[in-house]
Amino acid sequence: MSVVGFDFGNQTCYIAVARQGGIETIANEYSDRQTPSVVSLTDTRRYMGASAKNQQIANLKNTVWGWKKLIGRAYDDPLVQKEKAMLPFEVVPLENGTAGVKVRYLEENQMFSPEQLTAMIFTKLKETAQIALGMKIIDCVVSVPCYFSDVERRSMLAATQIAGLNCLRLMNDTTATALSYGIYKQDLPTLEERSRQVIFVDMGHSGLQLAACAFNKGKLKVLATAADTNLGGRDFDNLIAEHFTEEFRDRYKIDAKTRPRAWVRLVNECEKLKKRMSSNSMEMPLNIECFMEDKDVTGKMGREKLEELAVGLLQRVENTMKAVLQYSNLKLADIDAVEIVGGSTRIPAVKQLVQKVFGKEPSTTLNADEAVVRGCALQCA
Ligand code: ATP
Ligand code: MG
Repeated sequence: MSVVGFDFGNQTCYIAVARQGGIETIANEYSDRQTPSVVSLTDTRRYMGASAKNQQIANLKNTVWGWKKLIGRAYDDPLVQKEKAMLPFEVVPLENGTAGVKVRYLEENQMFSPEQLTAMIFTKLKETAQIALGMKIIDCVVSVPCYFSDVERRSMLAATQIAGLNCLRLMNDTTATALSYGIYKQDLPTLEERSRQVIFVDMGHSGLQLAACAFNKGKLKVLATAADTNLGGRDFDNLIAEHFTEEFRDRYKIDAKTRPRAWVRLVNECEKLKKRMSSNSMEMPLNIECFMEDKDVTGKMGREKLEELAVGLLQRVENTMKAVLQYSNLKLADIDAVEIVGGSTRIPAVKQLVQKVFGKEPSTTLNADEAVVRGCALQCA
């Protein structure tokens, strides 16, 4: 029986397994290695992953995502209230006072806890792995953000149990990334030599995590971690969407903020625009047909504007980078490499901050999307 690694991200999940001396990531039924962290409930059935994401706009109130931020939190936690304001489905207090969601499922109003939602995604990931590997899967290693509290960790374990899995270990995202790095580097110093010191930067959809690590052959020591628990790609998407909302108010006399469906469509398009801006230095277009009141809307944005809008976010990235330096007591001259992973480290301004703070070009030795899950699978090898 194989042990699989799961990375449950706020936006996407990955699955990996150790096989025949190597690590393989596993594709889903759409031949895609990433599975959206989305669940869509309908009167007849539930959808998980890509098929759920496809229904996001059509089934807005019963398609749930972004609940990773709600895990293990009381409903009246200010963070929950902040998330609730951004989500088009109903976030409600459950009987025990924790946050959950209320949706229509199988012709009834039903409440689900974040653990149950996470379990649905794990069920999907487990099925995907079982189909790909042709065997039953029970044992797994699951990654969690390094800043997750005990309560949040217990919730993740509960979710694996509901999904019929046996979680052998919860591993910090940062540790998983460092393991991925260590295993493939054949030229690490021996135990007697000075260790190789590497900074890892992981910026995902909703969290920023950094770790300073020291490597010798067969030995990994995490010197320090630093995080901004609420900073990621989605903050950039929201800023871009706010910008166009203003612009469209003036130009088209429509207000995306008044229509949840329009707002979600706008944020999704702004995310695509953000990604295009990462690979193009010119201004990039935004076009949405039949956006509101049958109006087609257009706009454009370039990197300069994005960086102007995101000046506060980028300052927080810089502060977190400086924090890991301080916590680890590393001097710039002690750092051998800065490795970047996570989708949002593709933003050019984030890469430039690596250069500014650490005085080094960021390295991309690792697969930015799969480093975490590969580390989980390695742990089982
Ligand atoms: P988290 O780790 O916060 O729970 P996650 O693991 O799901 O979330 P990732 O898959 O690492 O997050 O990254 C997703 C984020 O990266 C999204 O916000 C996405 O828009 C962003 N992203 C992906 N590619 C690019 C790109 N080329 N340019 C800018 N941002 C990108
Ligand atoms: Mg992640």
